[in-house]
Amino acid sequence: MIEYQAFMMGSPITLVLPTDSPALARAVFQLIKQQENHFTVNRLGSELMNVNQSAGRCAVEVSDTVFELVALAHQISLLPGSLFNLAIGPLVKCWKIGFQGSSPPSSVQIEKAMTRIDPRDVVLDAKKRQIFLRKPEMEIDLGAIAKGYIADNVCRFLAQENTPYALINLGGNIHTLNAPDENGWLIGLKRPFGQADERVANLTLSGRSVVTSGIYERFFVHNRQHYHHILDWRTGYPLDNDLLSVTVISASSLIGDIYSTLLYGMGLESALSWLEYHPEIEAIFITRDGQLRCSSQHHYRCFPNEMTQ
Ligand code: ADP
Ligand code: MG
Repeated sequence: MIEYQAFMMGSPITLVLPTDSPALARAVFQLIKQQENHFTVNRLGSELMNVNQSAGRCAVEVSDTVFELVALAHQISLLPGSLFNLAIGPLVKCWKIGFQGSSPPSSVQIEKAMTRIDPRDVVLDAKKRQIFLRKPEMEIDLGAIAKGYIADNVCRFLAQENTPYALINLGGNIHTLNAPDENGWLIGLKRPFGQADERVANLTLSGRSVVTSGIYERFFVHNRQHYHHILDWRTGYPLDNDLLSVTVISASSLIGDIYSTLLYGMGLESALSWLEYHPEIEAIFITRDGQLRCSSQHHYRCFPNEMTQ
């Protein structure tokens, strides 16, 4: 197997292919770049950026790709009790977590952002493929799900190219096309706040996606308080609960990305009960008190390492 590396979307990206295929690897990285250009909200000129910059003024026509993902994100945001909110942009920008943020914003700044993040103020016109943000300074942010969407497209592309098996790691979002052998891919789960190479468990699986939403990658500490990048749009602050991370194993990486955020928002016990009725989605939870809890293991195997907390 051959591993190819690149740095995109603010993360190191790894592509594993069966044989040395530089042209195929280049095509994959190009695909990622092109898709990122649709969804980024950190660069002028992207389709989403145009939507955001027309907030409060006019509707903007977008491509099918962007419209579909925004429409799905909108639906998920309107689910009762959903932690996910596609219009969270102003709050994300004011916290700057993972960028230059190093202290919490003032309550005035948070309150101001909170008046611009209601997902019901995102108006979609499916016929015209137009998106309108009702209030000035509203901003769509698909940072929580864009990688999942892109990982699905990468696997679809590789399947079309008749690649027998492959793995793509978009920095937290892993997706696999089949597996090199019957043992499956071996995927390590990082130990939250551990050394770079420390693993709490190893997973084996084939043809599935593995997505983690955790509070230990992008955060800052201020006055001994830990502030992470998954924000509770009802309070304006990082969501505080019993979990350090949720890893979702699913057939689609987009679904995995969506549910890693939703399940994180539910907290351990509600999430485990929910999963009992949704066998197509499986998850592994790491709690603040150092437990590793798995839902069903129909589509993967989990081999925990000793947890020392
Ligand atoms: P990553 O894989 O980069 O860690 P996640 O999938 O965990 O990202 O999503 C976190 C990102 O999603 C944040 O950086 C922010 O852009 C956005 N975000 C934060 N809170 C929410 C929320 N409540 N709803 C939707 N998106 C959010
Ligand atoms: Mg996500």
